[in-house]
Amino acid sequence: MGEDCIFCGIVAGDLPSYDLYEDDEVLAFLDVNPAAEGHALVVPKEHHERVTDFDAETTAAVFTVARRVAAAMDAALDPDGFNLFQTNGGGRRPGGVPRARPRDPPRRGRPDRLRVPAG
Ligand SMILES: [Zn+2]
Repeated sequence: MGEDCIFCGIVAGDLPSYDLYEDDEVLAFLDVNPAAEGHALVVPKEHHERVTDFDAETTAAVFTVARRVAAAMDAALDPDGFNLFQTNGGGRRPGGVPRARPRDPPRRGRPDRLRVPAG
């Protein structure tokens, strides 16, 4: 477990979460500060700061669940589309969490709060 890692706290059950899916390797839950309705996070239960730290099994497990969560969100919310992206590390942003986590927020129309820079 990473020190001061919110997601490790959620995985351990020490912090509350609205869980969408769980198996031995992966937990998916709704973001506490969603960018859009249905904004979900999919994390490996083992702490990793960057997706480049994942082994092939973890990569497959996390992104398989991310695809399943996206399909469920698509069916439940019928959004115009959805963004599936992955963030790494905590960076310098206050409150940044040093953990790798795919995100899965549905979109409705434009604009939404998500911006993914080109390149
Ligand atoms: Zn962690």
